[in-house]
Amino acid sequence: MIDQEQLVDQIKSYKTDFDPAIIERAYDYAKKMHEGQTRASGEPYYTHPVEVASILAGMKMDTGTIVTAILHDTLEDTDATYEDLEKQFGKEVADLVNGVSKLTRIESQTVEGKQAENFRKLLLAMSEDIRVLLVKLADRLHNMRTLQGFKDKDKQRRIALETLEIYAPLSERIGVHQMKEELEDLAFDVLNSEARESITNRLDYLRKEGKGVADTIIKELQSHLKKADIKAEINGREKTRYSIWKKMQRKNVAFEQLSDIMAFRIVMESVEECYHALGVIHSHYPSVPGRFKDYISTPKANGYRSIHTTVMGPAQQRIEIQIRTREMHYEADLGVAAHWAYKEGEMPSLKDVKKYRWLRELLEILEQEQRPEDFWENTKLELFQEQVFVFSPKGDLIEMPNGATPIDFAYAIHSDVGDRCVGAKINSRIAPLNTKLANGDQVDIITAKTQNPSPTWERFVVTGKARSHIRKFIRNQQRGEYATLGKAMLQKIFRQEGYDFTEKAVGGILKKFKAEESDDIYAKVGSGLLVARDVFKAIFPAHKTEVAKRPSSEMDQATMLRPGKNKDAPVPIKGLIPGMAMHFARCCHPLPGDRIVGIVTTGKGVTIHTIDCETLETFADTPERWLDVSWGEGSDTPEAHVGRLNLTFSNEAGALGTITTVIAANGGNITNLKITSRSVDFWDIVIDIYVNDTKHLNNIIAALRATPIIASVERSRGR
Ligand code: MN
Repeated sequence: MIDQEQLVDQIKSYKTDFDPAIIERAYDYAKKMHEGQTRASGEPYYTHPVEVASILAGMKMDTGTIVTAILHDTLEDTDATYEDLEKQFGKEVADLVNGVSKLTRIESQTVEGKQAENFRKLLLAMSEDIRVLLVKLADRLHNMRTLQGFKDKDKQRRIALETLEIYAPLSERIGVHQMKEELEDLAFDVLNSEARESITNRLDYLRKEGKGVADTIIKELQSHLKKADIKAEINGREKTRYSIWKKMQRKNVAFEQLSDIMAFRIVMESVEECYHALGVIHSHYPSVPGRFKDYISTPKANGYRSIHTTVMGPAQQRIEIQIRTREMHYEADLGVAAHWAYKEGEMPSLKDVKKYRWLRELLEILEQEQRPEDFWENTKLELFQEQVFVFSPKGDLIEMPNGATPIDFAYAIHSDVGDRCVGAKINSRIAPLNTKLANGDQVDIITAKTQNPSPTWERFVVTGKARSHIRKFIRNQQRGEYATLGKAMLQKIFRQEGYDFTEKAVGGILKKFKAEESDDIYAKVGSGLLVARDVFKAIFPAHKTEVAKRPSSEMDQATMLRPGKNKDAPVPIKGLIPGMAMHFARCCHPLPGDRIVGIVTTGKGVTIHTIDCETLETFADTPERWLDVSWGEGSDTPEAHVGRLNLTFSNEAGALGTITTVIAANGGNITNLKITSRSVDFWDIVIDIYVNDTKHLNNIIAALRATPIIASVERSRGR
């Protein structure tokens, strides 16, 4: 267990101008905040963050990172607040600790297999500052080192597997090779200690067997390089047990065949020397075809640089050789971390690099070199800043484009889930469907069988899948509604002209209107693209309509015609002067059963209004024009009158269809329908309906009011 003084000494070893005061304060703070907490091993909790800090000091990290490491669990596990940290340690550290806490929170999610890659991307995307990720990796490393503290073997295995699938590859990606190897080895020990043991034994045997072979090889290489006047440091290194295991799995090799266990590294000062050394080696030993890789001229995406070659060495043994400069060597072990430490040494103030972001840093590493071979990999890194990763209730990690909403998420799960979506919970809380999802959100979609996609969704969805499904649904829905309406309009005109309506008749004129099926004609009539009478005329070209002056469209016709379908039947009104022209007001559409009043209009005769019609206010000052009238016997002829309704309904797919169905079910016959206003949420329409009388219309109103999508329905009261 490392103490405060040792940690300070460790930092002083690479940072002479360092002021230990802030480390001391952080140490005291963590100790105080974690007081009473213990680790699974029984040790006081604060020892863990101090060890994590020590790992990072071993990587020569800057003071901010080390202070962050000491404080990394205070936000999540103690009463410490962001404000408190900011006050005591500054905004930079507070932000870093906050960043680590964010990663800790999503760490508890279990992801496996295919999900691992997405989870790695999520962690990268959430670590805006590379130091956040480095602290998290060091945290994981220390937890792995002390994993035996957990008695629960399943828990140990779960954590080890996660380490292998997520955290080791992450360290690899940001180039911290040293950490990657240790994480892998620790996980390997938990997951397959037998295999690890066998490899260890085999390595011991080979080491004894080939005693001195490595030394011989090093000496031989050394003398060749010396003759060529190259100063180099050469060391032989055993491959890690886990990498040997993986190779055995991959190539299906048995332990007995395992001989290729050593790798040699030649480290020099300059790049020129590297190529020179390569030439010397290849001129003394035959190289193995297909094993030469020049990562100096084309570095790996994570910044790794080295020349790799395999040659047939002394005693016809294959030897793997890596050739690199000292700087490359340091970077290969520490990756981005090395670069960070190196940069910090150059700059006098940390403030200058405050806005340090891991991505920029990675890009910079790549840009310093010539065009990297896998530049594509690089653009991919940049790309996932454009993405968010969210969890499904089952724990699946779903990749979404930035700005995605719960609706996009629902369609990403399944188109049916999208179509039936009524609401969403984000992190267990009900959230609006247009909420922009954030990295790590857990999204739960609420569905209902009766729900349909809403046209308003199209305004905020960002994925093509969601958009196309919504559009398709609305197109079909609208078309259906228009077709119903259009068919009703055609039926009406057929009846008026004394014909029976048949589908077959319409089928005969499809070509003329460039339609494929009858429904196309209906939909066009319903949407106003075709005039119903033109369709009728196309079917019966010889038919002469009796009405001389025909209205130009269906809508005009309704308002111009005297009310009532049975317009030949006289409407008896009592109280009129015989011979006087009479018509019904278009503002209030009086119906038998309404109390009515007549207004004498010069040149037009008498206009009949309902007693509560708002238009009557206009005649308040001219009482001489008012005429007492009432409905006569037989005025309630079936479907002889037009009632007008003002209706407001929520703008949902299928709404118009619902309304027409309700009206038809109550014996009403729609003669006219006009949309007067459309907003995002609601539509206002005016509907004229053939009815018998007030009672009939009131029944329809009652039925409409009982329909959930209808916000309000009123009889037209004039204006
Ligand atoms: Mn921790």
